[in-house]
Amino acid sequence: MSENSGRGDGSGGRGDAGSDLPAPAPDRSPETAAFWEATAEDRLLVRGCADCGAAFHPPRAICPECHSDETEWIEASGRGTVYTYSVMRQNHGPFGEAVPYVLAFVELEEGPRVLTNVVGVDVEDVEIGQEVRVTFDDTGEDAKLPRFTPV
Ligand SMILES: [Zn+2]
Repeated sequence: MSENSGRGDGSGGRGDAGSDLPAPAPDRSPETAAFWEATAEDRLLVRGCADCGAAFHPPRAICPECHSDETEWIEASGRGTVYTYSVMRQNHGPFGEAVPYVLAFVELEEGPRVLTNVVGVDVEDVEIGQEVRVTFDDTGEDAKLPRFTPV
């Protein structure tokens, strides 16, 4: 029998690249194609507005703040903080075998909040306000899923 003094069941904290979560291929659209192409090169893009300066995600052609169509890609630093999160302890399919894992909104340095996973850390050690940086999980489909890990 294993003793119960450790932290969780060791679902995180491994030093190697990538997480243990499944990485399904993304749904692509004309508005997100460039975003996914950039992830294949470990780059995180957000959409920015040339008129009002807002940055937003998911990518859209029209600025959600001022409705300008003068929007452009900007490369995000990949740094952010955990805005809110929940620990998933039950799911179906491949994600069901990866529980427990963390589903979170990470607020990027540039402002947008991204629905993502916090990985590489015990689920009990994730906190709101925690500083995180992007890490990429390869889907094998010329795209990687941006996930976040504590700095
Ligand atoms: Zn705008």
